Amino acid sequence: MSRTFVGIPAFPEAAREAVRDETLRGNLRRATHTIRERRAAAVAEVSDWAALREAGKQIKDHTLRHLDRYLLQLEDAVTAAGGTVHWATDAAHANRIVADLVKATGEGEVVKVKSMATQEIGLNEALEAEGIRAYETDLAELIVQLGHDQPSHILVPAIHRNRSEIRDIFRSEMARWGRPAPEGLGDAPADLAEAARLHLREKFLRAKVGISGANFMVAETGTLVVVESEGNGRMCLTLPETLISVVGIEKIVPTWRDLEVFLQTLPRSSTAERMNPYTSTWTGTADEDGPSDFHLVLLDNGRTDTLADTVGRQALRCIRCSACLNVCPVYERAGGHAYGSVYPGPIGAILSPQLRGTDSEIDASLPYASSLCGACYEVCPVAIDIPEVLVHLRERVAQGGPVTRNGETAELSPAKGHRGERVTLRAARWALEHPGALAAGQRIASRTRRLHPSRLPGPGRAWSDSRDLPQAPAEPFRDWWRRTREATGAAEESAQ
Ligand code: SF4
Repeated sequence: MSRTFVGIPAFPEAAREAVRDETLRGNLRRATHTIRERRAAAVAEVSDWAALREAGKQIKDHTLRHLDRYLLQLEDAVTAAGGTVHWATDAAHANRIVADLVKATGEGEVVKVKSMATQEIGLNEALEAEGIRAYETDLAELIVQLGHDQPSHILVPAIHRNRSEIRDIFRSEMARWGRPAPEGLGDAPADLAEAARLHLREKFLRAKVGISGANFMVAETGTLVVVESEGNGRMCLTLPETLISVVGIEKIVPTWRDLEVFLQTLPRSSTAERMNPYTSTWTGTADEDGPSDFHLVLLDNGRTDTLADTVGRQALRCIRCSACLNVCPVYERAGGHAYGSVYPGPIGAILSPQLRGTDSEIDASLPYASSLCGACYEVCPVAIDIPEVLVHLRERVAQGGPVTRNGETAELSPAKGHRGERVTLRAARWALEHPGALAAGQRIASRTRRLHPSRLPGPGRAWSDSRDLPQAPAEPFRDWWRRTREATGAAEESAQ
């Protein structure tokens, strides 16, 4: 199972809290609007964007259909290049493998490249419990780690923080983790970046073990690929003697030619750049450059169960660009923490309930964390129809199972939070199956129409406060039909 953010309530409650925070809303609005405008400009430069998007979708779908074959091909290629492949069924399994590998080196600390997969499994906390300290080296991840915080965005995990907040975190926390912040540190971006650079440099030079994820894995050669903007990843991937990469099994592409498509769509969709400043690729240890010991931990953790769902599996096409977060009106107001997962925003709303199941209150609430406006689908570079999956998952939540978990199909108990919806749908089903009772009910509704309230009582009040309730007709449709059409038909028959 993936972890949830401890103590985070279901989405509606967490979002209600978040929208009251004006500073948070301001930080998010500024950041998301800036990124979304830049992305739109970067995408508009490419004349065949629609074709690239379709190609990305097709490549991912093909790969997912033959995932078993490509994963075995990858394993053979990595092994032939001097690496070791480990298969992890879930978070606990993956954490155990990584902790044992680090312990085998005799080291008590590791440097990390920004990685969603290791956040998903809670690797830092698992290593901490084993007496191993993990240092985040991506600037935004460093801010989150020093601030004892949780990430709130896929690409910019500290998007909820402004510059003065970051300065205060650096001033108060850096000394506890290593080199302190420079005396009199201001909040200019260059000063903050320099403070982080100095703080991290000593860790890069000391580290014997690096831990990464990967944006892609190329099956034909066993090559892993990390794209980034800061260069910290390049340091972690090349300086340590041992490199451990934890990667979701869906990150595979068959060939370098396939990779070419995503190296065009990912940077424009995520950072609005034509290409990433740093694209690191490595293949085992055979080239005698970089780490001499390489381990690849292939992570399932709910992915094969997701693959079994013919509608929901498209979420596995995701390349974590975060474009859908930046255009989402719900994310912009609620922020990332309300989603209770390392995967916030629209992709989180469809990925977390599939990886973790919809048994918990928070995961059952996530498919409802959307207005279904479709902006996420429009910008997605692999054309994931997020609204379609959201509706599909709502159906699953409202009706309960069946759902596949750890390879076994089970009935889910319907989520507690949507009991009213279930009761209403059951009543509607009963009425539609009993036409006599339905007709009698419609007649009573028509005759008592002047007595109907214009607003609903109880919890329905909030809904009817902003809408006009439809009025019952003076005569039910069935009665009108019988009176007009059937009477006319009978008269025509007797005339013949
Ligand atoms: S769902 Fe699409 S837009 Fe959202 S992060 Fe994934 S690839 Fe990007």
